[in-house]
Amino acid sequence: MIKENIENVEERIQSACRRAGRDRSEVHLICVTKTKPEEMLREAYEAGQRDFGENKVQEICRKKPSLPGDIRWHMIGHLQRNKVRQLVGQTVMIHSVDSLRLAETISSEAVKAGVVIPVLIEVNMAGEESKFGVPSNEALQLVRDASVLEGIKIEGLMTIAPYTETPESNRPYFAGLRELAVDIGQKCIDNVSMGVLSMGMTGDFEVAIEEGATHIRVGTGIFGERIYT
Ligand SMILES: *Cc1c(COP(=O)(O)O)cnc(C)c1O
Repeated sequence: MIKENIENVEERIQSACRRAGRDRSEVHLICVTKTKPEEMLREAYEAGQRDFGENKVQEICRKKPSLPGDIRWHMIGHLQRNKVRQLVGQTVMIHSVDSLRLAETISSEAVKAGVVIPVLIEVNMAGEESKFGVPSNEALQLVRDASVLEGIKIEGLMTIAPYTETPESNRPYFAGLRELAVDIGQKCIDNVSMGVLSMGMTGDFEVAIEEGATHIRVGTGIFGERIYT
């Protein structure tokens, strides 16, 4: 079933790319595996997937040892500073940097471990109270302040759009994130590139692709509804 779901998502990605005149290779599918058991991750792996997204450090650390070593783990959830040390070395990208203090902690742990971690700045485009992320009018300042830190490399922006039954209604947020990335990119800040736009989930990834997403994060559409216990 997971294989079929992935095929279905893949077809939808391809048609969104066609509509937007984009090449399929510009869009990376991250399979969001939070709460799902290792067997399901293995099925996705066997269907060819290599980019997996989790929102808890403990869950990455628990699942990773029993799964193939070439999986690229993305940290997509809110990150507490006291969990950063455990995460360093386990992830190819942290999508959820939303404060200078967090960026500083990642920086110092990365330096200690002798690695450079690609990070994205999470922006709360819709200004939702319930969501993490910096307000869009503070993103540039956070990028500037974090850009001087060693051990991290800012590669773009991420947003979690509001939950909606009508994906079109999220188009302005995706377009807004792209425009913000273009604006920040034009400042030519050292150690900063704005090539990555992590946006779009099961309900709205096609609209996100049309608006320039380079990384979409799809959970339910591949693994089914999540049950939180
Ligand atoms: C859970 C989650 C997703 C996946 O959501 P679906 O609607 O299940 O596709 C994407 N991004 C983040 C940050 C998440 O926490």
